[in-house]
Amino acid sequence: MNAWVLAYDGFDPPGERLREALCTLGNGYFATRGTAAEAAADAVHYPGTYVAGIYNRLVSRVASREVENEDLVNVPNWLPLTIRPEGGGWVDLQTQEVLAYRQELDLRRGVLTRLARVRYPDGRVIRVTQRRFVSMDDPHLAGLETTVVPENWSGTLEIRSALDGQVANAGVERYRALDGRHLVAVETGQMGDDTVWLLVETRTSRVRIAQAARTRVVRDGRPLPVQRRTVQEPGLIAQHLLLDVREGEPVTVEKVVALFTSKDRAIAEPGDAARGRVGRLPDGFDRPLERHVLAWDQLWRRCRIELGGDGDQEVARTLNLHVFHLLQTVSEHTIDLDVGVPARGLHGEAYRGHIFWDELFIFPFLNLRFPELTRALLQYRFRRLPEARQAATAAGYAGAMYPWQSGSDGREETQRLHLNPKSGRWLPDRSHRQRHVNIAVAYNVWQYYQVTGDLAFLEAYGAEMLLEIARFWAGIASYDHGSDRYEIRGVMGPDEYHDGYPDHDEGGLDNNAYTNVMAAWVLCRALETLELLPAHRRTELTERLGLRQEEVERWNEVSRKLCVCFHDGDIISQFDGYGDLQELDWEGLRRRHGNIRRLDRILEAAGDTTNRYKASKQADVLMLFYLLSAEELRGLLERLGYRLTPDAIRRNVNYYLRRTSHGSTLSGVVNAWVLARSDRPRSWRFFTETLGSDLHDVQGGTTAEGIHLGAMAGTVDLAQRCYTGLETREDVLWLNPSLPGELDGLDFDVRYRGNWGINLHLTPDRLRVSVPASCTTPVRIGVKGEVVDLAPGSIREFAC
Ligand code: BGC
Repeated sequence: MNAWVLAYDGFDPPGERLREALCTLGNGYFATRGTAAEAAADAVHYPGTYVAGIYNRLVSRVASREVENEDLVNVPNWLPLTIRPEGGGWVDLQTQEVLAYRQELDLRRGVLTRLARVRYPDGRVIRVTQRRFVSMDDPHLAGLETTVVPENWSGTLEIRSALDGQVANAGVERYRALDGRHLVAVETGQMGDDTVWLLVETRTSRVRIAQAARTRVVRDGRPLPVQRRTVQEPGLIAQHLLLDVREGEPVTVEKVVALFTSKDRAIAEPGDAARGRVGRLPDGFDRPLERHVLAWDQLWRRCRIELGGDGDQEVARTLNLHVFHLLQTVSEHTIDLDVGVPARGLHGEAYRGHIFWDELFIFPFLNLRFPELTRALLQYRFRRLPEARQAATAAGYAGAMYPWQSGSDGREETQRLHLNPKSGRWLPDRSHRQRHVNIAVAYNVWQYYQVTGDLAFLEAYGAEMLLEIARFWAGIASYDHGSDRYEIRGVMGPDEYHDGYPDHDEGGLDNNAYTNVMAAWVLCRALETLELLPAHRRTELTERLGLRQEEVERWNEVSRKLCVCFHDGDIISQFDGYGDLQELDWEGLRRRHGNIRRLDRILEAAGDTTNRYKASKQADVLMLFYLLSAEELRGLLERLGYRLTPDAIRRNVNYYLRRTSHGSTLSGVVNAWVLARSDRPRSWRFFTETLGSDLHDVQGGTTAEGIHLGAMAGTVDLAQRCYTGLETREDVLWLNPSLPGELDGLDFDVRYRGNWGINLHLTPDRLRVSVPASCTTPVRIGVKGEVVDLAPGSIREFAC
């Protein structure tokens, strides 16, 4: 197997949408699903192009209620390119006889190739080879090259090349009842002989989106004379090209497209920008393609993760695929935008392109390679701090309360109703009670600072977010005299199967352990941040935020007295009362339903609820062992007056693993992580299962609606941080390797504290750290408690 190619043989209509999602091409500014260029949205295909940060809000009526949703907009489809021989139908794999079909995604170069041979009823055979790219060099550019060989005939060939703005958001079956018409046609036009353009506007956010397409036909690199006819309708423009082709002689159609929106910087108007970009392109397809390939080359130099020896090629390829999709969703072209990382990439419409806590699983990879990118992504949160403050105030809390789902302006975008496709019922959605998203924002700020040492960021942006989030946690915590403890009531933890107590109308749970322990962690970091800030900035911030000494003292107190509940001895209760819930008949349910990942839907359809059972959708308590090292967690719990023995950790891990259905792909990442040292075979199983979750669409259809970027990045991070034991704490790059038996080794580079290309080379018994001579400062490494400064140009080996 080639670790750089994802290939599919044969045309498989039911599997097409999954392939489209996995073969998406993008550059961090926009992405286009790997849909056949000749296909429109139908039962088999779903073409979609999404521009980072372009949302639109619409009101729909469902279940006799008006619901408002903000969606990442499916912008005009730039792909349409179809051909037909004179007197025959358009080439379409669903109608013609398919003699051969292959699709190949080249991960190293970011090129998608399709090869098809089709036969018409009259015996004419056409061979088509199509290559496409979405430029990683110029974020506004994409190209589609189609080479056609009339294998056994000569005659006239017709080509139709279009820009289609008559598209809607219709990629997710569950959302079909909702209005998905986000675009209004504005203008179409032609420039010169071979270029057409299209301008549309989003219905309520009023963002203008322009595309310009140049379509040329060449043979042996020389332009061919063609007859052209342009067809225009509102929101659509197409050129029909007629040319003579000869048996066995290839002709090549080159379509290059530019895409701009009115949100772009350094442009006069998007239409003008798109026309200008295409107008200035050199002849041919190769030059922009070469530049695109160079950009990918450079990205891979920075991002490669190599497995030692012959390695497991399937694992290697999937890790490459995951890095590939991560970089296509966020890249250097994202830095200048005002966006976060959508949980489902720019690859489909699930979760409407919203941003969740999943960044927690995504930033660690970026921090160690593109800290400037994480910085930009954190600024998306900073710009929405006023909105988060307002949300906290409106809910009666202090500080800032970030939304569970975030879109354009940072208001809460979580749907109020969701559809259970199993029962057909629209149900109240309480997931906005996952206030722990605030923890993720704070954690990400802190991690970024730890990896980079970027005090300027902390001073200007990070500290304010951290302090306001700390303020929120101290404020929401209420004091209970009886227990002399602080409590956090009415929230949800990461496990979405528990959104309230059974038989209570009011949603939310009390004292979710993950939330309380991490709230204590946030309060500690906020206190530390105050110490870290230079005096003048500390004064400025405390004045501006009206932060008084008593409040800071309360943070300290709350961080020592938050309540954590236990049951069955030393089992950390996921929330207060968890221990009283019923056990679920897991085996019985598995027997009856097979796949029970979405237990919530199964039980609801049967008139029951997961709230009654000790059954979690995903890691919740175990998140603590994922985010914090055992040492850090022990320290934090001690501060709270609780003791956690290594044995208790093992018992907790086993307890919750037995009671989790893994209805979120994030769960596998956490489980693989927490078992990595105590139960390696089991950890490896979780790792490989999660690696395959999108590739094999283990949730049965969800990947087709968009990849799961948290799980993709999380699996890469398992290789990066978990297997090397990499931690960035106390100004030290800690390493404590534990390589799974299935891997011969690992080799990759990181950037730490401004130093590029620090190489980590791990074999089963040795760890080699090389600091390039080009580094500007020594790198402080900690291995097994020993801290050493490695000078630029030095190499050091450690026994594992
Ligand atoms: C998970 C959440 C996650 C969201 C977006 C849900 O299924 O339960 O934890 O944030 O998907 O990926």
